[in-house]
Amino acid sequence: MARTFPNIVITGTPGVGKTTHCEMLAERTGLKHLSINDIVKDRECHEGWDEEYESWIVDEDKLLDAMEEQVQQGGCILDWHACDLFPKSWVDLVVVLRVDSTTLYDRLSARKYPEIKLQENLDSEIMEVLLQEARDAYDEEIVVELQSNTADDMDVNVDRIEAWVKQWKENNNAEEAK
Ligand code: ADP
Repeated sequence: MARTFPNIVITGTPGVGKTTHCEMLAERTGLKHLSINDIVKDRECHEGWDEEYESWIVDEDKLLDAMEEQVQQGGCILDWHACDLFPKSWVDLVVVLRVDSTTLYDRLSARKYPEIKLQENLDSEIMEVLLQEARDAYDEEIVVELQSNTADDMDVNVDRIEAWVKQWKENNNAEEAK
């Protein structure tokens, strides 16, 4: 079934600004912000809590089943620190947010992350792990890397994605009318 609204993945290391971007985008575009963390927790798509990392151990099959019906209808913004589990057929755009390591350090420290989790996330950002994961999983033309260091960055990013959504709708609704 063709979607009349696109699905967008907003990904990146924890602390890059995914939630903040998604909330602004949802408000501006009318797309629905799906916080994958909340789905994992609320619909129990996990195998328990990891005490060391202070995070859920995700059951990916259960998670995909829980999301499938809604995502296939289109119009979803998927907010998560991973992306390669989402089937290619679900995804129209992948935005990988990036941040300088000193800024990320400050944001994660403010969240009182356990030291091991903080270091792993800093390493992951420096090594561009999420960007590589996105490029490996999806066609290169749908993967966009955007900086998220400042409030100005965020405004520019949201404007850009909003314009992309508008264009996508024009293109796809025009295709449908043929
Ligand atoms: P994530 O969902 O990726 O973990 P959040 O959206 O929760 O990140 O952002 C983490 C913190 O960093 C929040 O306090 C948020 O206000 C701040 N932040 C995120 N992006 C930016 C940005 N581009 N400029 C300034 N502050 C930001």
